[in-house]
Amino acid sequence: MTLVYVEYQDGALTEASQSALSVASMFGGPIHAMALGSADAEVLKPYGVEKVLHVADDRLNTYAPGAAGKAVHQVISSQSAETVVAASTASANEILSRAAALGDWGFASACTELSVDGDVVNLTRAIWGGSLFQEAQLTGSPKLITVDPNAFAPQQATAPGAAEVEAVSVALDDADFVDQLKAVEKGEQQGIPLASAKVVIGGGRGMGSEEAFSILEELAGLLNGAVGGSRVATNNGWRSHSDQIGQTGTQIGPDVYIACGISGAIQHMVGCKNSKNIIAINKDAEAPIFQRASHGVLGDLHEILPALIEEVKKVKGV
Ligand SMILES: Cc1cc2nc3c(=O)[nH]c(=O)nc-3n(C[C@H](O)[C@H](O)[C@H](O)COP(=O)(O)OP(=O)(O)OC[C@H]3O[C@@H](n4cnc5c(N)ncnc54)[C@H](O)[C@@H]3O)c2cc1C
Repeated sequence: MTLVYVEYQDGALTEASQSALSVASMFGGPIHAMALGSADAEVLKPYGVEKVLHVADDRLNTYAPGAAGKAVHQVISSQSAETVVAASTASANEILSRAAALGDWGFASACTELSVDGDVVNLTRAIWGGSLFQEAQLTGSPKLITVDPNAFAPQQATAPGAAEVEAVSVALDDADFVDQLKAVEKGEQQGIPLASAKVVIGGGRGMGSEEAFSILEELAGLLNGAVGGSRVATNNGWRSHSDQIGQTGTQIGPDVYIACGISGAIQHMVGCKNSKNIIAINKDAEAPIFQRASHGVLGDLHEILPALIEEVKKVKGV
């Protein structure tokens, strides 16, 4: 049996958890899910989930990694799961690593590739922010694995599961909630979120000013995309920090990433390496981004972008 730890945001199953559920079918055998706090079992049916182990402790509705790790450890211990899968999110990695430490179980985070060979799982892990890939093997039981949601597309099962809910009680005391999220202050979200946008337009130092980003906004509007920036753009105050793409910013995985006036530093590239196509616009033929881009345009972005916008408008008839 494979057990999938699933996460919800604002009541909805996260897309990252949908990826983790899709991966679970690779291990064969029934798929069970475990959820903490409020959870909707119905949405798990299309992923072939037979049973939902639900820890209905309201205190777990807000992020409390110590308590959640202990709860997950208890749920796994009570089941005969050979494999436990979750999406490689900051929260799931923290919770599963705590559970693994409590159970002295093997744990591999941020896996980008997986293959099952009998009792051994061969995997590739993205480490150091994705600048290195590590080949590893997990043996023993249970094996705890988190998967990079950008590396595995959500895919529904061929046959739906019953998603029968089984209430599970765990022993938690107040001391387990010593670290608990108290409040979340949401930034102003305008337009499409960077992390899930299918088209992303990024601007770097080459943009030259905050005002210059308006042309990227115009292009993003035409292509139904989102605008992001390099760390230079955010450090200069041209974009808010939440728009930063890279190791210390958002990881994007669009169909098309148009990088404008961005040199292609490794810390930037680890944030956009999952883009299906990278189009680089840069005036320096030696810029490292050209080595990673699928398409490159050599020239001044202040001339190229207006021309590109005109062409897009013609194609769209606007
Ligand atoms: C620990 C750490 C974490 C980091 N995290 C991140 C991160 O998350 N994200 C990130 O982006 N960076 C990050 N950085 C910074 C990173 O190393 C680079 O400094 C940064 O990405 C460079 O930004 P840039 O490409 O905009 O600027 P530059 O490297 O200065 O490149 C500007 C580019 O614009 C081109 N250009 C200039 N004018 C024009 C024009 N008119 N037309 C066309 N092209 C033009 C130039 O040829 C050049 O290639 C991190 C660094 C460290 C040490």
